[in-house]
Amino acid sequence: MRIQETLNKIVTGKLKAEDNLNYYLVNCKKKQELNAFISILEQSAKQKAAEIDSSVRNGNKIGKLAGTIIAVKDIINIKGTITTCGSKILENFRSPYDATVISRLKNEDVIIIGKTNMDEFAMGSSTESSYFNVTRNPVDQSRVPGGSSGGSAVAVAADMAQVSIGTDTGGSIRQPAAFTGVVGLKPSYGRVSRYGLIAYASSLDQIGTFSKNVNDSAFLLQIIAGYDEKDSTSADIEVPDYTAALNVDVKGMKIGIPQEYFGKGLDKEIKERIFTVLDHLKNSGAIIKEISLAHSDYGIAAYYIIATSEASSNLARYDSIRYGYRNKNQEDLTRTYMESRHEGFGEEVRRRIMLGTYALSAGYYDAYYKKALQVRRLIKNDFDKAFKEVDCIITPTTPTTAFKIGEKIEDPLSMYLMDIYTVTANLAGICGINIPVGNNSCGLPIGLQILADHFKEENLFKLGDYIERECSF
Ligand code: GLN
Repeated sequence: MRIQETLNKIVTGKLKAEDNLNYYLVNCKKKQELNAFISILEQSAKQKAAEIDSSVRNGNKIGKLAGTIIAVKDIINIKGTITTCGSKILENFRSPYDATVISRLKNEDVIIIGKTNMDEFAMGSSTESSYFNVTRNPVDQSRVPGGSSGGSAVAVAADMAQVSIGTDTGGSIRQPAAFTGVVGLKPSYGRVSRYGLIAYASSLDQIGTFSKNVNDSAFLLQIIAGYDEKDSTSADIEVPDYTAALNVDVKGMKIGIPQEYFGKGLDKEIKERIFTVLDHLKNSGAIIKEISLAHSDYGIAAYYIIATSEASSNLARYDSIRYGYRNKNQEDLTRTYMESRHEGFGEEVRRRIMLGTYALSAGYYDAYYKKALQVRRLIKNDFDKAFKEVDCIITPTTPTTAFKIGEKIEDPLSMYLMDIYTVTANLAGICGINIPVGNNSCGLPIGLQILADHFKEENLFKLGDYIERECSF
């Protein structure tokens, strides 16, 4: 059911919020082995559902998300709930306030069903690095759901929530959406407030959504987007009516195909599927153009320098003194810091803190961090140039379909390469969406990525919705 249908049914009394909630709660219990959630907020969700039902009975006004069941990645603060970031260091951290996205969702009477599992501090591409165990792909439980927002992707794919919220620093919404066969949106940097999102790499992090269809994605963005004085990087520009971009055709739309995203390492079936879609779009009157994003080849290298540098700084706050896990057996302050951070953080997080600290240190700063920033600018320039000629860019979302649990966890570099087509959008600050385009011969979902210029989310919706409606697989 689409969000708007849910609302219609709730308003007209055809559906009770309590019954809608129960449907998803039952699934959460039935599908526990997927480990999509770190916590289920059953009590508060039931209370909210009862409140909505009573408002409807009494003829009171209800919000646009009344009765919609949403799951939230466990890196976003919800007042009074435990927010772990998938880490032992925050195992018992209770959020003192609501993130801006949460207040906006609550203002529209959403029902929050639970907090989802994730790679520790959103560092990963498989949801295997969580302190709270691996999340499984519902399509094939021996495979990963992608990451780092794996739990949020699975919650939607396996019907444990209608829609969900995730975060995308280098692909963490689009990549798991591709692996599980759902729609995953990363808005432009600055479009959605990051206030209350626990930081990984602040210049790249962005909050976005998972849904079963493009319609819901547009509907949700409409609610969470827009200026927030509490986030100095949030953009003070108008949010257009995204629903106007739905149910239109793509005649005359200019679509760029960057050859750099279709080279070595790309799975053959994924490549063929994307080209089938392109043929269809061409027959529908879209104009397909070859473009070049030459510096994208350096995207992964630049991304992992910048992301780890920012992470090393952001994660310095977990000192075990003000909050978070503490090893209490140490005799002095330095050893308390060291042992608490050593035990509180997992291996991948420690690796990144070390990498980032190294890249930022005197003597190496110019060679690594500064160089990476220069590459970032070149990547952005490529996109600026491309968007002078095209409205959208189409690429694969991932080089392969979902891989086996355990396959890459010992090999960080091959794990990092899973983000090869997604990190550039974060480096450039532009928006992107994953659209599921059927399954491969083994039944695993294939994802197509659409990219659009800064604050042009409506172009993603226009093209994505068209592909969803018109291309069948
Ligand atoms: N896999 C990438 C990383 O580990 C992206 C993560 C993300 O988008 N949060 O940094």
